[in-house]
Amino acid sequence: MESCEEVVIVGGGIAGLATAVALKRVGVQSLVLERSQELRATGGALTLFPNAWRALEVIGVANKLVSLYTTFNKEHVTNLMTGDYQEISFTHDGLRDGLGVRAVHRKVLLEALAEELPSDAVRFSSKLESIKDEIIDGSSISTLRFEDGSTIRAKVVIGCDGVHSVVAQWLGLTTPVRSGRSAVRAIAVFPDGHGFERDIQQFVDDGKRAGIVPINDKELFWFMTHTSLPPEIEMVSDPESIQNLIIDNLAKGFPPEYINVVRHTDPTTLSWAPLMFRYPWDLLIGQTWRGCVTVAGDAMHPMTPDLGQGGCTALEDAVVLARHIASSSRSSSDGFEKAIEDYVKERRVRVAGIIAGSYLSGWVQQGGIGWWGGVVGRFVRDHIFYRFVFKRLVKVSEFDCGRLTCGEC
Ligand SMILES: Cc1cc2nc3c(=O)[nH]c(=O)nc-3n(C[C@H](O)[C@H](O)[C@H](O)COP(=O)(O)OP(=O)(O)OC[C@H]3O[C@@H](n4cnc5c(N)ncnc54)[C@H](O)[C@@H]3O)c2cc1C
Repeated sequence: MESCEEVVIVGGGIAGLATAVALKRVGVQSLVLERSQELRATGGALTLFPNAWRALEVIGVANKLVSLYTTFNKEHVTNLMTGDYQEISFTHDGLRDGLGVRAVHRKVLLEALAEELPSDAVRFSSKLESIKDEIIDGSSISTLRFEDGSTIRAKVVIGCDGVHSVVAQWLGLTTPVRSGRSAVRAIAVFPDGHGFERDIQQFVDDGKRAGIVPINDKELFWFMTHTSLPPEIEMVSDPESIQNLIIDNLAKGFPPEYINVVRHTDPTTLSWAPLMFRYPWDLLIGQTWRGCVTVAGDAMHPMTPDLGQGGCTALEDAVVLARHIASSSRSSSDGFEKAIEDYVKERRVRVAGIIAGSYLSGWVQQGGIGWWGGVVGRFVRDHIFYRFVFKRLVKVSEFDCGRLTCGEC
């Protein structure tokens, strides 16, 4: 007989695991269903800003990570076309508060989250295929069908199943769109030390933006976002071919230290994908919840990575959702429905704004797309953006998503 769970979370990435941990903190048990056979950490590393660290502190995970990773003070941005140089400080105003800005290994973050859960709270090799909703004894129940033919019933379903979310599709949210840009990213390893300061280096060029982000003394995260190439080129998946394409083509003319970092890539961490986002207005007017089903993380708000906020806002989602569920009357499906509605109402304006800010930031930093876009984009980037706009956009990362106030907290 199929089991009936109170809360099912689809997807065991940052959003799914953080949501399960946040719910556990308020005394709500959940089951995470993940399609992979183990925790999946595509992309190697990510930068977490103060908003993410606040959320991690609230769910009791930050302390495990802060001793492993130190903070950044600055970002250095070099315009390779004009030679202009700008310095962005991470030690001003709200960015100085809390736990700062740090890059972490994705795998370490996922493991730190998963360790907080009982061993049977995450079920692997469980790929959701479809959802059916029905009313049983006056309560709304969802039946989830998986690729292997099994089914699970749940009172509450939280789709944390990433950009191509089955749950978002079922809700009726529009399919995320391509931004016209793609990103390559990986970790580079220097067994004898890389010798870089603990600052972020960024290089902007015509249609490209690249960066080097130290993780520790021996490892660096590097990335390049660029105007998308024809699909037959971007379908290459062999890490060595991608690395050669960067060195010989996309990063031609880049500083030798960037090329050297790319040469030290750990091939198992390399990924290359088009950058997708959801139109912000779809979150404002679209169906982000139905009954006791909703979405969080990239499933709700896929965004381009230009403000480094996708993972950070997924962690915020987890805390906000758990707070609303904790304060609801969970004895009836009406209580859960109200909690989910309140969660969506609290989140959608913020995340819609961040999607728009990220897109704008990426478009401008990369110097626009197309001929006219290029002229306008480069002018804005070189004369206005870093001086006046970027610091304001980065303020989104000073956000405090609040506390959890019951259960184990
Ligand atoms: C180039 C790049 C750089 C980035 N840099 C940063 C950064 O510096 N800082 C930052 O905060 N964010 C960054 N991001 C964004 C960040 O990676 C994402 O926002 C974050 O990983 C979202 O987490 P998630 O759990 O919502 O989704 P995902 O990480 O995609 O996890 C979804 C999970 O659901 C599972 N799943 C999918 N479908 C199903 C299904 N049908 N059934 C069951 N399971 C399923 C997947 O296997 C996966 O484990 C970056 C993104 C890119 C592309």
